[in-house]
This record gives sequence, C-alpha cells and structure tokens, in this order.
Amino acid sequence: MGETNQTTITAIATPHGHGGIGVIRLSGPRSHLLARELIRLPDANPAEIPELKPGRPSLRTIYNPVNGLLIDQALVTWFPGPHSFTGEDVVEISCHGSPVVLAEVLHLLTELGADLAEPGEFTRRAFFNQRLDLAQAEAINDLINSQTSFQARLAARQVRGELSGQLQPLRQSLIDLIVRFESTVEFVEDDLDPLNLSIFLLRIDEIIGSLERMATSHRVGRIVKFGVRLALIGRPNVGKSSVFNALLGRDRAIVTHFPGTTRDTLSEALSINGLPVSLVDTAGIRETDDPIELIGVERTRSTITEADLLIAVIESTSELDAEELALFEEIPVNIFVVNKCDLGSILRRDIIMSLAGERPVVELSALSGTGLDRLRETIYQTIVDGGGELDESSIITSERHYRAILDTLDHLRRARSDLTAGFTEEVALDNLHLALRSLGLITGETLLADIINQIFTTFCIGK
Ligand code: GDP
Repeated sequence: MGETNQTTITAIATPHGHGGIGVIRLSGPRSHLLARELIRLPDANPAEIPELKPGRPSLRTIYNPVNGLLIDQALVTWFPGPHSFTGEDVVEISCHGSPVVLAEVLHLLTELGADLAEPGEFTRRAFFNQRLDLAQAEAINDLINSQTSFQARLAARQVRGELSGQLQPLRQSLIDLIVRFESTVEFVEDDLDPLNLSIFLLRIDEIIGSLERMATSHRVGRIVKFGVRLALIGRPNVGKSSVFNALLGRDRAIVTHFPGTTRDTLSEALSINGLPVSLVDTAGIRETDDPIELIGVERTRSTITEADLLIAVIESTSELDAEELALFEEIPVNIFVVNKCDLGSILRRDIIMSLAGERPVVELSALSGTGLDRLRETIYQTIVDGGGELDESSIITSERHYRAILDTLDHLRRARSDLTAGFTEEVALDNLHLALRSLGLITGETLLADIINQIFTTFCIGK
C-alpha cells in the first residue's frame, strides 16, 4: 500500500521538560546502524561493539562519536522490522529525562544522517506498512489526548482494533453483495427475479441496520469526547450549592443558610464514571426585587437553555410551593433530587412522583453524602441513555467516522430504493460501490491523500 520509505527518521518521543526518562525513537533502515554509532568510542572497531538483542533492552553508555565525550547511560532497544511499531527497523533509546541530553542525542543522530520526523510520521509509517489501519492510527492520537478514563478506555479498545473488527464483516458483506450482484446482472437479461431481489434487499437491510446502530452510538461518542453541560436548578436554599460541592468533592460554591447567596452561575469540570461533565450551579430561581439577584436569575434561565442535562433540586423538609411546581412544569428537567433527607421528610412522595413521572428521583443528603453514589450513577445512566446495553467496542467517537457512516448509509438506502423502484441494476450497483468506498474511508482501504495528511498532521512529533 502506498508510500515506501528509505529514510531513517528520529524524534524525541517523550514530552518536553525534565523527567525520569526521555525516549528517542528511530525508525527506518539505518536505525540499528545509527544507534550503534552512539554506543561506541570514536576509535573503537565497530565489530567490537556488543550486539543489541532484538526486542530486549540493553544498558549502554552513550558517547559523542566525534569527540568521545560521555553523554549518558541509556537503555537501548532494537525492534527489527517488520514486527515493530512502524514495520521498519526501530530503535528506542531511553536516556535520563534531561532536555539537554535528549537534544544532544537527537542532534548527533541527525548529524549521522537521520531525518527529523514530521508530526505523526511514526504512526503514518505504521499505517502504510499495514501495522495498523487508519481508525487504529487515529485512536492512538485520541488515547494520547484523552482527558477521562472513559475516553481513554474507548480509544484503547479502538487502538486494539475493536472498531475495525466490527466494521470488517460489514465491509465483507458489502463486497460479497457487490460480487453476487455483478454476476447476477451479467447473466440475467431481464429484471432481477423476485427471489433474488428479496435476497439482495435483505442483505442491504442487514448492513443498514448495523451501520444505523453505530451511527446512533455517536450521540454517546460525542459526549465521551466533548462532555455534557449539567445544570443544577431550584429554589434558593434547597441545597444546590451543597449538591454542587458534593459532586465536585470539594467546597467550591459558597453554602449559607441565607437564601439567594449564589447570585451568579458557577461552573466546574468533573468526571462522572469517566464521562467529562461541566457542572453548573445556578442562582436559585425565585421572584425577587434585588437587582443583583435578578441578574443571577436571568443568567440561570440562559444556562437552562444551554444545558444538556437539568437536575432539579428540591428539599425534603418542605412541600413544593406553587412557584416551584410551575417552574418544573415549564423546564424540561431530567432528574429530580430530593435533598436534605437526613432531616426527615415533610415532602409528600406521591406529589414528587407524579411530578417526575418516568424521570428518576434521587433521595440525597448533600451534607452526609448519603445517596451521592446513586446520583452519580443516575446521571451516568441518563447521559448514556440506559448505558447498560452500550457496546463499547462499536461506539463512534470520531466525527470523521460518523460522516463516513452516514454517507455509506445514504448510498445503501439509494441502492435499495433504486432496486425497489425498478431502475436498472447498474444504477443500484453504482450506489453499492459508492457505499463501499465511503465505508473504506474509516479504516483507510479507501485512500484519499488529503484526509490521510490531515489526520497525521494533528499528531505530535515523535508519535
Ligand atoms: P442553595 O441556595 O440552593 O445553593 O443552598 P445551599 O447549598 O447554600 O444550602 C442552603 C442551606 O441548606 C445551608 O445551610 C446548607 O448547610 C443546608 N443544607 C444543604 N444540603 C443539606 C443537607 O443535605 N442536609 C442538611 N441538613 N442541610 C443541608
């Protein structure tokens, strides 16, 4: 497939700055040779330099090969191609994590003839040498850039090839379908007979069904990647700031027994079961003449329209008043929290249950923490919409993959309607080929230079 590389590239693979270790990577036909130059003294015979053992780190002294000055001691590992990350000969030199040492080693390697690697060039070589497909290569970048454990887990599963593994049988069915279709069209002079037609439609529908499930999972995939805005709303003094602090695990919002202390919206990032959440505490909503509190109430209203998920906080120590009832009927609340449960209950359960209907009601004491785990779980379940059945191996997190799936679906649906509308089979066949092409964009069977370049330039140098 595509590019072949005769050059040997090098880059520092660890982040900039001081650290325990710093790794320099080499990839290309001269990697082993260049690494060996650094571990011999200038006047030593190359034949006397001890061999590096394939795949096993060896402790070696690194010298400047020109003047023989000591640079560092390092673990040097040689991964002979084709069974290396890039598919080429790779050497990793793990020095002490000193920017000065790393810069010197890098400089020496370029003096010896290595080229500085472009961003993402190691992974790009891995892709062109078929060590991984395009979706796996992109997932490496997602894994490196992940901010929550959920993001990291999904990316790691994609690096392992789970998404590609889900797509492969679909691609194969599409190819089989095209092959059968082509041979049928060739031998049949009239229209397709009804039996053949129904078989083709059935196969197309199976592929459409699987791809539709994947496309739907992008809603969760987007949340995993970009997070959700979650707002706490309710009357003043019901404990919104206390719930905010409890979910956050630290005292961020001011809590007092005076109603109306939170006059502005406060926002903090946190992770709920690994999902990135931006939690917003709002000024309580109530009729007020205080001009500052009024501004807070207005901000709360705009927060409500921007939020992805709304949690209504009410207190168990009083009945819902008319203002609250009107408010919660007007606002599309997702979860009800009955707070201050440690103080006993005056609030009538049947009233809150009929207000909530199908929506979850969580009893909580923000003060003691009772019910907090249940609240977190309820938030998580609401976000992933019954996440129990979520198949993590086929969640579409990438916008690019999502677009490719939508395009594939579009061509498949067209092929389907071409067939049922009695168009010539060639028209349907064209759409099946276009569907195959779109599907191949995800894992890189369909190669478009612009897309490939765009993907790898978003990587950091050394990856
Ligand atoms: P907000 O105005 O809705 O943000 O409410 P706050 O979080 O400021 O809390 C108002 C008052 O209720 C404070 O005195 C809190 O200590 C108290 N409070 C909040 N949550 C609880 C709870 O779960 N139990 C008890 N006993 N008091 C609470």
